Amino acid sequence: MDDDQFRIETRSIHAGQEPDEETGALMTPIHANSTFEQDAPGDHRGYEYSRTGNPTRTDLEENLASLEGAEYGRCFASGMASINTVLNLLEAGDHVVTGNDVYGGTHRIFTQVYEDYDLEFSFVDMTDLEAIEEAFRPETELLWLETPTNPLMSIVDIEGAATIAHDHDALCAIDNTFATPYLQNPLELGADIVSHSLTKYLGGHSDVVGGALLTNDEDLDEEFGFYQNSVGATPGPFESFLVLRGTKTLPVRMDRHCKNASAIASWLEDHPDVDRVYYPGLESHPGHEIARKQMNDFGGMLSFELDASLEEASEVVSATEVFTLAESLGGVESLIEQPAPMTHAAIPREERLEAGLTDSLIRVSVGIEHVDDLIGDLEQAFEAALN
Ligand SMILES: *Cc1c(COP(=O)(O)O)cnc(C)c1O
Repeated sequence: MDDDQFRIETRSIHAGQEPDEETGALMTPIHANSTFEQDAPGDHRGYEYSRTGNPTRTDLEENLASLEGAEYGRCFASGMASINTVLNLLEAGDHVVTGNDVYGGTHRIFTQVYEDYDLEFSFVDMTDLEAIEEAFRPETELLWLETPTNPLMSIVDIEGAATIAHDHDALCAIDNTFATPYLQNPLELGADIVSHSLTKYLGGHSDVVGGALLTNDEDLDEEFGFYQNSVGATPGPFESFLVLRGTKTLPVRMDRHCKNASAIASWLEDHPDVDRVYYPGLESHPGHEIARKQMNDFGGMLSFELDASLEEASEVVSATEVFTLAESLGGVESLIEQPAPMTHAAIPREERLEAGLTDSLIRVSVGIEHVDDLIGDLEQAFEAALN
């Protein structure tokens, strides 16, 4: 389909998806298949071997590229495999500037895998463009950022950050997992590469792990294809199918995620047991103005600080009945977690407090249930645990 002609609600359903030529089947078939017939050596119909390319994966890659407004898309076995592929572009001695609050797995692959291959990383406060600028060195080849960040929903000025990267002849890559292409399109704002964990909102049903890289740069796309084939961290056809099934409803799901999160953020802000709410849609959020400029809405993730101890906050997250106590995010069901003893437990307490991750901080991935049931559930959990 001609992408420029249609809006994202239409592209999410139709891009990369044509009825099967042979049977007319509407849905993309799951091509459970490792190898493909050749008519003569080297003479094939576009596919030879499924690590290199698989038709179900291709349909997903076209669909995701269209959603992100990108020329090219490549899918990987997980969000981490996507991130690994971007790092594969670098060489020993190269330097990377990144955020001091990047996703834990990203921090781990940077420091525990690639520092051993002589890449160097600087972790800075990405909300401060001057701090980004100062961190650049002659050997800086990549600026890696997330926005909104986890778990405090800090907002990074994508256009400003990309300009700095390009002034230094470095690539700007953005992990757009939290916002999704429905809410934010970093390529339009100057980024060179967008990375997604498909495990979250794009899959949307907490039933699949996957990743993707999108770009408008043909050379980068070719390199990503080389690493898909050479490293082999590609998704199978079942996973590709599940994500395709998810992206069809991305716009309607995101509308509800945003609406529910916004209502819960406002309710929390007025609640006497809550000290502080982090949601970019609130005017009290320091990144609100930039978020309004670069996002279409404010997403389904938020966090808040209770006027309570670590133990009391643990009791709250254990007392919810609709919210499930679990890590991860982006599914239709609401999840709740406490970063201090869970997702961010590896960070020493002093360092954690300095970064604003207090003992009583609670993060929620707001699902698409009825908002009154979600607010009622938080209310009963507060009452059960705090009084
Ligand atoms: C989950 C996540 C990842 C990693 O993705 P996986 O699919 O779990 O490998 C990377 N970045 C962000 C922001 C995430 O939330």
